[in-house]
Amino acid sequence: MPSPRFVSVALDIPLLPPLTYKVMDGTSPKIGDRCVVPIGNRSAVGLIVGVSNQTDIAEEKQKSYIRLLNETEALGESWLKLTKFASDYYQHSWGEVAIAALPPFFRSKPGPKYEQSLERLRKPFKFKKTSQAVPALQLNNEQTAAVETLAASSGFRTFVLHGVTGSGKTEVYLRMMERVFSVNPQAQVLFLVPEINLTPQLQERVRSHFPDRSMATLHSGLANGERARAWLAAHEKRVQILIGTRMAIFADMPDLDLIIVDEEHDLSYKAGDGIRYSARDLAVKLAQLRGIAVVLGSATPSLETWSRVKSGRYHLLTLSKRAVQGAKLPTLSVVNPKNQKLVKGLCSEVIDAISETLQKNEQVIIFLNRRGYAPVLTCPSCGWLSKCPHCSTYAVYHKFHAKLICHHCGWSTPVYSRCPDCGNVDLQPMGAGTQRIEETLEELWPQARILRIDRDSTQRKNAAKLAFEAVHAGDVDILVGTQMVAKGHDFQKVSLVVVLNIDAQLVSANPRSEERAFANLMQVAGRAGRFGLPARMIVQSRFGDRELFAALAEQNYCRYADSLLAIRKAENTVPFVCQALLLADDVKIDKVLEFLSQALRLGEDILAAQVNQQVVIYDPIPMAVMKVADKERGQLLVEASSRGAMGLFLKQWYRALSEIRSSVHWTMDVDPIDV
Ligand code: ADP
Ligand code: ZN
Ligand code: ZN
Repeated sequence: MPSPRFVSVALDIPLLPPLTYKVMDGTSPKIGDRCVVPIGNRSAVGLIVGVSNQTDIAEEKQKSYIRLLNETEALGESWLKLTKFASDYYQHSWGEVAIAALPPFFRSKPGPKYEQSLERLRKPFKFKKTSQAVPALQLNNEQTAAVETLAASSGFRTFVLHGVTGSGKTEVYLRMMERVFSVNPQAQVLFLVPEINLTPQLQERVRSHFPDRSMATLHSGLANGERARAWLAAHEKRVQILIGTRMAIFADMPDLDLIIVDEEHDLSYKAGDGIRYSARDLAVKLAQLRGIAVVLGSATPSLETWSRVKSGRYHLLTLSKRAVQGAKLPTLSVVNPKNQKLVKGLCSEVIDAISETLQKNEQVIIFLNRRGYAPVLTCPSCGWLSKCPHCSTYAVYHKFHAKLICHHCGWSTPVYSRCPDCGNVDLQPMGAGTQRIEETLEELWPQARILRIDRDSTQRKNAAKLAFEAVHAGDVDILVGTQMVAKGHDFQKVSLVVVLNIDAQLVSANPRSEERAFANLMQVAGRAGRFGLPARMIVQSRFGDRELFAALAEQNYCRYADSLLAIRKAENTVPFVCQALLLADDVKIDKVLEFLSQALRLGEDILAAQVNQQVVIYDPIPMAVMKVADKERGQLLVEASSRGAMGLFLKQWYRALSEIRSSVHWTMDVDPIDV
């Protein structure tokens, strides 16, 4: 086939449609190849998304690309379609999405040793031999039914594997993969997990189940070289099983035949900056594009997913009991700290239960959703509070480092020895974070081996991995931590879970805060009693009469989710409507609000012209945490009754917004997780 004369190239530039370039003599570009092109007075890597033999561009204005990058296979059709879809849906140019989706090595201009580097990246992966062969488990009826249903389906289908914690979801994923491989021995499988910390244990299980299949991981903890290597191996089909966090959705897997999204409700599937995509939603889209199955697994599916189960769009697979013989979910008691004499913030029931558990040589998890020592430092004499000077929040007291640290902007200062307002030397911590609880535990149980796991304790490479290994090995008696301890781990000896300070989440202004608290509680409950030990869960809360605790006591997700959906439907809010947020920030709040008002007017004009009655724009408001890192932040909420209507509106609106003359920085968040 003669080579085309022109290519259109998508570039990482907002609002810019693909640009046309001449084909360089002696090269044969294909759609999906990368190339280096001149743009303005610089050059950049772009992606070829179209080829043709003619152009409207005048001869003298035609430029050619500088270098064709086709030493690797071209990016595949479904990868191109997925990035195109994401660019339309999240309101970015195709190039912005596609280029950002590539590992840094493939999106940067090639250095002098490009070819050698590529060869090094192709070095095969070496695997540690698995410690021992694990005997195959006999699946129970529900597990078998789940696997068989998937095996019997063909083409695109979204399955929701709803299984209580410890019900053997992972085992089901493995068997599903097995079935896919038995039909298609070349098949590739993408396995998404919410957190890097969950990959080692999973990797081990996958490896021992499939000792002969190649596997790689892809996540933000990898160095650039490692990341490029895993990505390339998937792209060149040298890896069959790819385990990764949300970024792995943009791996190009030519033989992809099954996608698994574990803990699909987890908020980390949604990108919080840049292109704010949801890897879970894109996984469903990718499965549709490829005509394959996708499995969304969770003990507490998101309401978005649950509503699609209810409407019949997603197919439900249920695992209603724990898989290990005799393993039971913990019994729940909620104790009210209000009218009690507390010892260092702990109720007597909690203290007794911890002592009993330690005596039995079993493990305790203390779950607390706040890291640091105390959420705020205060002066009892004048009422001074440790506010962050750059944000409208408080800087958290980190006693160990003797610092005040703002968790929003990262500002920190050595802790004051006296009150900056009145000079009082007796500053007091208020409330408790994980570090303070750890200290309390050390005082109350000096013999116990206590380990704290949170973002602060796991900053060093491998720290989290080692910490979790210590728990698994039984070298820890009390594990205290944030959400990190709640997720996914298959602990053997935990028989008591204590939850402190969940009330802040239950009285939050954010309407989704309670359902997240529920998911956290279900997850952390799931860490206990997994191997037959009778287990308990004690929650210190003043809101013991709330519906969520009744549902938690029964471990009845469906009851809770159904009741929430009924409320959401009556209130006509998410997931029954689609939302998008326009977010703006600037040092001056007036400028932010001025920009948003203009945006509102433009939006209203567009809606009037479109005769679009399915979309509503609300008034601009300051964000809940209004100031972060000296930037005042405001937002405008848009709601639509359908995704189609939303997309139609956003496309026009985005163009109009980019013509507003304002120095205010703004972004769009489609399907925001917080409004
Ligand atoms: P989940 O992912 O649902 O929390 P896991 O897949 O981690 O659950 O399984 C929990 C425990 O149950 C694991 O130790 C696993 O080996 C075990 N398990 C899973 N399926 C079975 C089964 N059919 N028979 C016995 N044990 C099982
Ligand atoms: Zn003071
Ligand atoms: Zn701050």
